[in-house]
Amino acid sequence: MVKAIVGACWGDEGKGKITDMLAADADIVIRFQGGSNAGHTIINDYGKFSLHQMPSGIFNKNTVNIIGNGVAFNVPYFVKELNYLKENGIHDPKILISDRVQLLMPYHILFDTYEEARLSDKQFGSTKSGIAPFYSDKYAKTGIQICDLFHEDILRERINSACEIKNILLEHLYKKPKLDPEKIFSEVIEYKEIIAPYIVNTAEYLNKALKEGKNILLEGQLGALKDPDHGIFPMTTSSSTLAGFASIGAGIPPYAIEKVYTVAKAYSSAVGGGAFVSEIFGDEANDLRMRGGDAGEFGATTGRPRRMGWFDCVATRYGCMLQGTTDVAFTAIDVLGYLDEIPVCVGYEIDGVVTKEFPVTPLLEKAKPVFKVLPGWKCDIRGIDKYEDLPENARNYVEFIEKEIGYPITIVSNGPKRNEIIYR
Ligand code: GDP
Repeated sequence: MVKAIVGACWGDEGKGKITDMLAADADIVIRFQGGSNAGHTIINDYGKFSLHQMPSGIFNKNTVNIIGNGVAFNVPYFVKELNYLKENGIHDPKILISDRVQLLMPYHILFDTYEEARLSDKQFGSTKSGIAPFYSDKYAKTGIQICDLFHEDILRERINSACEIKNILLEHLYKKPKLDPEKIFSEVIEYKEIIAPYIVNTAEYLNKALKEGKNILLEGQLGALKDPDHGIFPMTTSSSTLAGFASIGAGIPPYAIEKVYTVAKAYSSAVGGGAFVSEIFGDEANDLRMRGGDAGEFGATTGRPRRMGWFDCVATRYGCMLQGTTDVAFTAIDVLGYLDEIPVCVGYEIDGVVTKEFPVTPLLEKAKPVFKVLPGWKCDIRGIDKYEDLPENARNYVEFIEKEIGYPITIVSNGPKRNEIIYR
């Protein structure tokens, strides 16, 4: 059985917790896209962890964790996370790395930083993890596959040719010091010994595991609206965030994915720029931000305060549709217990016309939210473990949203801890 866990909207929906929960009975957990640019927060018996690149099955002794070919693989970051886990009592986790994954190179981070500085007030709000330059290189065919580390002549030649182009940009566009390919080669070749024990043909491994009937979990990063094709381009990320891409980023047949758990948070938050129709500001936003998540809504990678908004049925329905959702996991509903009334965005008004369809970016910029206001439940609902025991207004909130988005909410999360979960 293959399950995917993905985000409905802008990311930070609480996928980490749901993944950690579903990973408990997974034989294999795979990261199939993105890199160290986004983060999951997981709270379990070992403590509270902020993971960026490691698959979330890392806490289970019997789970094999795979860095799939679709990931932007940052080796120094991988080592840092391994050490961080070790310091916190997680020893010798089972990890496999695809022999076709490409390396996030030191110059990708440089270019990310220089480009954001060049764009100045038009910048994308990148986490400067090198993700856009990495995927640009992959598609421009100047990227470096991890297997190149074991063929030094090829590696040297590929670094030389990448540097040739990059040095022209550095000299003439960014006015920065040029790269020394030999220096990069010696830095990168150091990775070889560190990662050698983990490398396998993960597509072969997974297809064999499929035949053996193993439980496989595909772990997505960010959310549907950050997808470069279907999202809020250009304020998107650089690799597909959709469950469908898991087939490519991991190397499994598309029809193998039987369950798609789309995680949607009971309110909205977003990082970076771009239109955010149900956004709220000032004290109203701050009240929600400080109560959100397990310790306020601040970026797991950057610590930046997240932008806040009310739940957006238009965006979430669209996100769930693109993900091919079979189940919605509805998180952080406990956070809303302080509100007398809870606005929910049920439509976008664009040029005087109300629509429920998520529009293309130029129209999205013009969209104004149409809110329906639902009554709050005014109490703490953490600790409740049966759906029927939730206050009526909390159930009405869930059921109203389920009807608007048109996908079944089968999991309700009412607290950051692993056991704070209600199945419907
Ligand atoms: P991800 O990128 O989708 O995994 O999102 P994060 O890891 O950033 O999760 C958002 C935050 O919400 C984290 O601090 C989680 O601990 C927290 N969280 C997850 N589920 C719940 C929930 O049901 N209630 C509350 N209050 N916090 C939650």
